[in-house]
Amino acid sequence: LDVQVNSADPACPGQAPLLPVVGTGIEVPLVTGDSLPYANLDYAASAPSLQSVADHLSEVLPYYASVHRGAGYTSQVCTALYEGARADVAAFLGARPDDVVIFTRNTTDALNLLARCVPDDGPGGGRVTFLDIEHHANLLPWRRGQHRCVLAGTTQRATLVSLRAELEARPASLLAITGASNVTGEVLPLAEIVELAHAAGARVVLDAAQLAPHRRIDLASSGVDYVALSGHKLYAPFGAGVLAGRRDWLDEAPAYLPGGGAVREVTLTHTEWAAAPQRHEGGTPNVLGAATLAQAARTLSQLPSGALEAHEEALRTALTDRLNRLPGVRTLRIWRDSTTSIGVVAFTVDGYAPGLVAAYLSAEHGIGVRDGKFCAHPLLSRLGAPEGAVRASFGVGTTLDDVERLAAAVEQLVTSGP
Ligand code: PLP
Repeated sequence: LDVQVNSADPACPGQAPLLPVVGTGIEVPLVTGDSLPYANLDYAASAPSLQSVADHLSEVLPYYASVHRGAGYTSQVCTALYEGARADVAAFLGARPDDVVIFTRNTTDALNLLARCVPDDGPGGGRVTFLDIEHHANLLPWRRGQHRCVLAGTTQRATLVSLRAELEARPASLLAITGASNVTGEVLPLAEIVELAHAAGARVVLDAAQLAPHRRIDLASSGVDYVALSGHKLYAPFGAGVLAGRRDWLDEAPAYLPGGGAVREVTLTHTEWAAAPQRHEGGTPNVLGAATLAQAARTLSQLPSGALEAHEEALRTALTDRLNRLPGVRTLRIWRDSTTSIGVVAFTVDGYAPGLVAAYLSAEHGIGVRDGKFCAHPLLSRLGAPEGAVRASFGVGTTLDDVERLAAAVEQLVTSGP
């Protein structure tokens, strides 16, 4: 597959889209009666599909058929497509040979599936430890019984110390941690986290909903035990996600979705369940979701090393430098010592409710951002923004022009009002 990578001027990252995405140039009607090309700065919610993903979808759509049990030609094609997608996602994630890739609906589904698989009788007694900064998807599945929430410190260093102390005091089976904050974009120090969790006998699940579209994940070299992600944040359509990782827990847990496809043999009195991944993929799977997610993974894998990071860092620096100079505008950060962030910037504007700022940006400037508490209510409270914030987020299709439009619009708001 030939991927069109925009590397026209590697000395000026951010000037042009890094990869073509669909929806570029949609015209947005403004309150003034004019219109402007849409500046989509809401990638962290759902990223626009890559053009390569849209092309792949139209290539495979004619073969639409149910997988695995059909003998017809299109069913065979779709089965190959679905199992090929599984293999390509495994490669994208640097999976170990014995790791399992399970297709789920999204990250939330993947983490809830894993929550049913943590064995109570192993080391750590089934306990799951997590931080208070997490998205609700990586918080609520663990808020039961003996599971433990650790408060992050004001530095990443202090947070690591707290995590280590907690895991030493109360051993856990699993440490559930995000790869990057969906609110501030800060990237967590994964190597240190894996090291301290493993030293305390706990496995690690990485909520990579935000990290996977921005950074390469390698299960084998990082030692991360499980990873969860969503296709719709990885430049593929809605409805498909992944849980990948170590086989033993996944093979031993009860079937997540009992039904057709999850079994080897059924009698009226007995069920012999299939091994993972089929064990947890009951019902007709989302073949096109898996195929398009895998296509996004293949395309992202072909980016030259460092290109994505350079592109997003140029955009992020341009945006935060300008926002931080504006009176009454505060960009949010969890930690004083975090050194790297993905393309996510949250901010508040004194005197304006986040919803008002977001509505103004859309109606008067054709800019799409998100406002609210981003499914991370405890984090927004600890960041001193209990009423929420505005979040701009971007990726391969974003240009400096998009983020400069945002900065100029916020500047206009704080200097002249809406
Ligand atoms: N984890 C993080 C860090 C997220 O940002 C999100 C979505 O915003 C999720 C999990 C949940 O993803 P999904 O809604 O696709 O299940």
